[in-house]
Formats: sequence, C-alpha cells, structure tokens
Amino acid sequence: MQQGIMELMWRTSHMSGGNAHYVEALFEQYLEDPDTVPQEWRHYFDQMPRPEGSPAHDVPLAPIRDEFYQLGRQRRTAQATTASVDSGENKKQVKVLQLINAYRFRGHQKADIDPLGLRSPTPVPDLDLSFHQLSKADLDSEFQTGSFFMGLDKAPLKEIVEALEQTYCRSIGCEIMHIVDTEEKRWLQQRFESVRSAPKFSSEVRKHVLERLSAAEGLETYLASKYPGTKRFGLEGGESFIPMMDELIQRSGGYGTKEVVIGMAHRGRLNLLVNILGKNPSELIDEFDGKKVIERGSGDVKYHQGFSSNVMTPGGEVHLAMSFNPSHLEIVAPVVEGSVRARQDRRDDLTGDKVLPVNVHGDAAFAGQGVVMETFQMSQTRAYQTGGTVHIVINNQVGFTTSHPKDTRSTEYCTDIAKMVQAPIFHVNGDDPDAVLHATQVALDYRHQFKRDVVIDLVCYRRRGHNEADEPSGTQPMMYRKIKDHPSARSLYAQRLVEQGVLSEEAAKGLVETYRHDLTAGNHVANALVQEPNTSLFVDWTPYLGHEWSGDVDTSFDMKRLQQLAARMCEVPDGVEVQRQVAKIYEDRRKMQAGGLALNWGFAETLAYATLLDQGHPIRVTGQDVGRGTFSHRHAVVHNQKNGDVYVPLQHMADGQPRFTIHDSFLSEEAVLAFEYGYATTMPSALIIWEAQFGDFVNGAQVVVDQFISSGETKWGRLCGLTMLLPHGYEGQGPEHSSARLERFLQMCAEQNMQVCVPTTPAQIFHLLRRQVIRPLRKPLIVMSPKSLLRHKDATSSLEDLAHGKFDMVLPDQGERDAAKVERIILCAGKVYYDLANWREENARDDVAILRIEQLYPFPKETLFEAIKDFSSVDTVVWCQEEPQNQGAWYSSQHHMRAVIDELREGLGRDLKFAGRPASAAPAAGYMSVHTEQQRQLVEDAFNL
Ligand code: AMP
Repeated sequence: MQQGIMELMWRTSHMSGGNAHYVEALFEQYLEDPDTVPQEWRHYFDQMPRPEGSPAHDVPLAPIRDEFYQLGRQRRTAQATTASVDSGENKKQVKVLQLINAYRFRGHQKADIDPLGLRSPTPVPDLDLSFHQLSKADLDSEFQTGSFFMGLDKAPLKEIVEALEQTYCRSIGCEIMHIVDTEEKRWLQQRFESVRSAPKFSSEVRKHVLERLSAAEGLETYLASKYPGTKRFGLEGGESFIPMMDELIQRSGGYGTKEVVIGMAHRGRLNLLVNILGKNPSELIDEFDGKKVIERGSGDVKYHQGFSSNVMTPGGEVHLAMSFNPSHLEIVAPVVEGSVRARQDRRDDLTGDKVLPVNVHGDAAFAGQGVVMETFQMSQTRAYQTGGTVHIVINNQVGFTTSHPKDTRSTEYCTDIAKMVQAPIFHVNGDDPDAVLHATQVALDYRHQFKRDVVIDLVCYRRRGHNEADEPSGTQPMMYRKIKDHPSARSLYAQRLVEQGVLSEEAAKGLVETYRHDLTAGNHVANALVQEPNTSLFVDWTPYLGHEWSGDVDTSFDMKRLQQLAARMCEVPDGVEVQRQVAKIYEDRRKMQAGGLALNWGFAETLAYATLLDQGHPIRVTGQDVGRGTFSHRHAVVHNQKNGDVYVPLQHMADGQPRFTIHDSFLSEEAVLAFEYGYATTMPSALIIWEAQFGDFVNGAQVVVDQFISSGETKWGRLCGLTMLLPHGYEGQGPEHSSARLERFLQMCAEQNMQVCVPTTPAQIFHLLRRQVIRPLRKPLIVMSPKSLLRHKDATSSLEDLAHGKFDMVLPDQGERDAAKVERIILCAGKVYYDLANWREENARDDVAILRIEQLYPFPKETLFEAIKDFSSVDTVVWCQEEPQNQGAWYSSQHHMRAVIDELREGLGRDLKFAGRPASAAPAAGYMSVHTEQQRQLVEDAFNL
C-alpha cells in the first residue's frame, strides 16, 4: 500500500513525494465529498485502514498526516540510495521529465505574449538545460516523453525541447499548474500540447477572422475620422477582441447555449455593440451627435449602454444581452452573474449549459478592485454558481495613466487573483489572432467540460490615450513611441495570410472597403444578427412597463387558504429531529395558526412567502444568516439534528409550486448585492430579497446602491423589484450595528426611484412583501427591518390582519381618543413608536397623538393628511427619531412633513420640532448607559419640547 500511495503522489503531483500537504488537502476534500477527488485517489482513500466500524468521516486526520510525512521521508531516503546506484541514463531521463514539468510551470514567463515587446523578460533558469544537469551533448539522445502529449513515447531531446518551446513559449502563456484536480490539468495539457498551442485553422476560418478584425478596425477608423477627439474609449490595439467574442458566441451556440450575458467596461464597448451585438450604426451616430434617445429619465453616456439582440449560430438562435454598466469598472461582473443565474433558473438549467456569462475586464481594474475577488469567491457556491464564467481581460498594459506594473499591482500578472479558484489562465498575444482563436476555444470548452471559471488575458496595447482627448505620450513616452510605429493587428494578420497564400492582397483590402461601405450606408455590420428575433428566448417585460407609482394595493388573501398554508408551513416530516429552540418556534407557530397566540414577525414574514408561492411567484432570499435570520426569527430552514440534512417547509407547500430558494451567502456585501440586483432585473415575476446581517453592512455595497439600485431605472430604463431587508434600530449595540444609514437612502430618493419603508408590525411586513410582487410595478424596496421588535410583546398581529388588510403607508394614532382634545402630534417611524406609546400610557398624555410613517419614500402626503386632518386643536407637531439629528429621516423628509402639516393649518409646518439624538459623527454611542439616557431624553423631548 505504501508503494501505491507514493506512486500516486508521484504521478499526480509535480512536487516531491513528501508533499504531504497536497495529499492532506485531497484527503480533506475526499472526506467532504469523495466524488470530487480523482478516481485513483478515491480508490486509495477508500481502502485506507480506519478504526473498526467508523465511517469515512470519522477517520482521524493526524495519524494519516503522520503517515504521509513518514512515507515522504522514506521515499527521499530511498531515492538517495537508488540514485547512487542508478545508471547515468536513468538519471538523465528523470531530468528530462523535470524539464518538461518546468516548461509546464514556467513556460509562460518566457512566452511571447506582449505585442509591443515591452514586457521585461523574467529570467527563467528552470528552462535551461544546465539547470537540470543536461547539456547540448544530450540533444540528440532519445528520451521518454512521459506525460507530455507529444504524440511520441520517445524522442530526441532537441525535439522535446522544440515542442515544449512551441507549446509554452510562443503566443500563448499558459498557467494551469496551480490547478489541483488532475483530470482538469491533464485535459488542459492535452489541449495545448497535442497541437503545440497552434492548431491549423482552415483558410475559411482565417479569412473570417480577418474579416472580423477588419470590422473591429474599420469602426474605430470611421469614428476617429468623423468624430476626432470625441470620447469613445476605442478598441485600437485590442482589435482581436472582436474575433474572440465572435468565436465565443458562435461556439457556445454550437454547445446548445441559448443566452449569453456580457459584462464589460468602456474600452471596446461600442465596437462590440456594433460589430457583435448588431446595434445599428446609425443609432450610435445619433448618440455621437448628442441626440436624446430615451423619452424618460436621465439617460447615460454611450459607452455605458447595454443592448440586447439575437444572433444565429451553428446551434440555432442565441440571445445576447450586454449589461448596462456604470463607471466602476468591475462592479458589473456580479450583476452579470446574477442575471445569468436568473436565466438559468428560469430554464431549470442546473448545469449552466444554456446560459453563458462572459465578463470582460480591464487589466488595472481586474488587479485593483476587490469585487473581482468576491466574484471569483462566489463562483462555485451553491447560491451563486453559474456553471463557470469566461473572463476576458483586455490587457492594454496601461491603467489610465498608471502603467508601471510596480504601481498597478503586487502580483506578477494582473490575472493572478483568478488563481484563488484555480481558474486556468491563458495569456495570449493580441497580435496573433490564430492564437487568440485557440485560447478562446480551449477556454469555452474547459468551461463546458468542468463548469468552472476560466480567464483569457488578451495582452494588447492602447493605441490612443485613455480617451480620445488624452495625449498619452505625456505620461508614457517610451510605450507610445513604440506604439506609433507598430502596425495594427489587422494589417499584420492580413500580411501573414497574404504571404501564406490564404487570400490575395486585393481580397484583404476588399474586406476593409466593404465594411466601410456598409457602415456609411447605415447597414447592420454584425453578420450573424437575426433581424426578427425569437422573443421566447428572453423574458417579456411588457406587463411591468408603464405603471405609475401607486402605494395603495389590495394585498388581502383568502383566510381559509391562509390557514391551510400556515398549517402546512408548520409541518416537519417524521425523521427530522428539530433542535429544541427551533422546535419551540414551530410549536408557537402552530398555536398562532390555531389562533391561540398572537402572530409574531417571523411567522407573518414567512406566511407572506407562502402566499406568494401559492399565487405563482418564485422567491429567492439570500444574505449572511437568512436561513434562520440574524436574530433567529425566521427559521425557514430546519436542520435535522440527527444527520445535518436540511428541510425547508416553504419548498414543500404544494406539488409544482414555484421555486423557493433560500441561501446563507458568503461574507460579502458588494458582490452579493450586485448579484441580486442582476437577478432581480432579469426575473420580474419573483420576490428577490437580500438581507444584511446588520443594516450597517450595506455600507460595503454602497456602489451597488448608488450606481444600480437607486439610479438604474432613470439611467437605463431597467426596472428592478429587489427588496433589501436592513436591520435598523437603536438598541445600544454601538456605532456599527444600530443604523442602516436610512439618511443615505432617503437622500438618493427622487422621481419615485425606490421605496423606503419602516414597517412596525407583523401584518405590515406581510402586506409590504406581498405588495412588492402582487403589484406589477417594479421598484427597489428598502426596508429598515427590526431587531428587538421581532419579539416585542406589542408588535403582534392576528391572522385576520393578514387576510384582510393592506400595507398602510401611515399607521394612524391607535386607541380611542377625542380628536378635538389632541394638542400635540408626534410623527415617527420605526421602533421608537413603542417607546413613545409606552411613555404616553405611563404618563396618561391623552392630548398627544402618535402616528407612524411606515413609508418614508415615496412620501405618502395624502395618507398622512387623512390621518391628521381631524386634529383641529393641534398646536405642536414633533418629528421624533432615534437617529442623531444629522441622520435618519429628519433632513431628507422634513419638507414633506411640513407641507402636509401646513395643510392642516397654515404656518404649523414651519414650527415642526425635532426630538432625537444630537447631531453626531458616529451613528450611535458605544456605551449602553449613554444610549439609554439618550433614548429616555428623546422620548421625553417628544412630549415636552
Ligand atoms: P435581456 O434578456 O436582458 O436582453 O432583455 C430583453 C429585453 O427585455 C430588453 O431588450 C428589454 O426590452 C427588456 N428588459 C430586460 N430587462 C429589463 C428590465 N430590468 N426592465 C425593463 N425592461 C427590461
């Protein structure tokens, strides 16, 4: 057996037989899921001795680790002994195999991937014969080729070296040796080594590539001559990107893909839109001419625009969607993933074969922006996986004006971050379109085969400045001197094809002229574009378009059915052993269903889900602790205490019910919120919820709120019904866990772009969630959700409140009160209401009415007026909030309140008073004693100011 494991180590790892860490990792992986380790390892681990009767999972790791170290040591000793008796020839054979592996590991460092030749060559001693104690004298000797896919078992050393040089050191620099999975690694080696990284493409294919290159160059030349100096973030220098995208789409169509979603930043975007997605050039020209092309909203600059179209491929029609993108370059990547996942879910595409995500990045941003790491991290998780993404870096070797790698990153390549998920990385010289084509094909095939991310680093250059108004030689003199004399990728390729007799010089020129002619004639220039697209390939948004804002919506639900659903939700099948506290929650819910107990928040919220599922709406809930809820109020996922399996009652409401997905997310806010935005903008029929663990966590996703959620509709006409649950409330938990920064959301509110609500009863959250989906309007919903209120004795509702009510944007004063005797109105939002109501009762202040504004935006002016109009004797109106004066709703909403109060009595609004914490730089005090005193004071102020 010892022999067996050493052989395995030897064959599957480049490193020495003492590589116990590797085996240990494999073993841990095997314990997790035996199917994920290579078959030979699985077999070995299966046979390992273990304490009698204990299952695989119980095998203690430490003795096994010791065994591996032990074996490694023995092997090294054995090697030392055999080496001394080994023949010189055998020794050399080993060295040759090491040389082969050295090329596999480090060949990319010597590869010719930089079209400008500016990359400072890294000395790679491992690739020298002498490093392996070989010499020129050995070049004619024959050696075994081992696992090198050379097509020969044995070959003279010079041929082996030549094949290695051709495979690993020409236009493609391959990084694959960081991949642990042997099958994947071998598959990739085979793809490159068997054709020496340069397959022979047919003349037809190469002519097509030249035609696409001519299109790429032709558009930029045309725009440069017609609009000199106008910003367009041109693709010049990276033209190979267009044949690359063409190949990616056509080939994925061949695999049966039905939709491709593309995310990319500015550079090359217009080119892709026109030459691949088939945007009509005349539309683009209109945009260059500054014409307003949308009727409503702010619109956006042309290089942020998205687009949709269908193209024909060998596998049939494929729908293409390019995401709208703000200036934060990398943030669109998780949005694309979310959109892809929504499309895959819609198609019940569990493998990801039907929808392909393609994320195009800039080199500096890829290396610089943290959301890239977050997006990789999500790529294999259950909540976010999309069957692998093809990442393309348009690497023009200069980020804005910063170009020196020492300033842009600490890693060797801009793509090194991708190694964290063991993605293969192909660095390819943009001036070699054949190599680009090969890298593209292998990348797509790899994704299809292994369902994992893959990266193509298209190493090119930027012929002009960051934008067309910039003069780049001011900051990059050496690079731009080189670029000035450097022929374009198209002319280099045309010359090569002419020299190789693939086509005549005239024919090559003809491609340029035909393109120019089509462009000036205003014809479509994406040759695969389908003029009458099959609309069933994408979602029909028309039911959701053109609705004016409305807040009052009938969200009632049949009582009998509600009770049935409530009962079903409380059922847990026999065999699922429920943990004690969770069992109590379910027991209480049964009592609530039977009418023996008032309804709490958790039950009302989950009932909202049950009713929506019953009405045919899919639901997706994600966030850091959403299964149970940060404060354990939800418990939508029951963990079987016997075996760790989970049971989700909402997934078992009825046969054929819509999808109910609930996933604890990994610990990210930025990427996951962007993902859910992408999902929600693609799946209008569903309720999509992202819950922050605490509301302040949303800080980490501010860019998503600013650039997508609050403004996506006005900039791009993209509707979004995403719901965000942000726990908010002052309970003495210190500066970070008190506030979801309500003020920031309110400050961004305009043109009814989103809804900001602070529900305070279980019935209110029930109706609010239902309103979000039942109504065809799609607007983001920001909920300041409760913490202690989840269990507050007064924050309860009845089943009747759920069945018959609706979401009240304003909750009027509660209890019997003589309206004429009310002298003071306190307006508030959120949990402070319960403190105020308590104080009023304790102090018998019947002259005070307390109203809750449950929807702060769009501000419910009419509803509020209705609620106060009978208080004719009022002389004081106070806005009471828990937040410091510079935060919360005070500054953003007071003008709305004043306007309504003025309607009650002229001038009353002007004197609206503020009761709350004093203005503060931090959201809340860090000491419980200070918090308590402040809270007492602000409540008292509300009554006495
Ligand atoms: P897509 O599948 O993203 O290419 O979208 C197909 C079409 O649906 C688009 O051309 C739009 O007309 C429409 N559409 C997609 N997403 C939205 C959205 N979030 N809001 C409004 N319309 C949309």
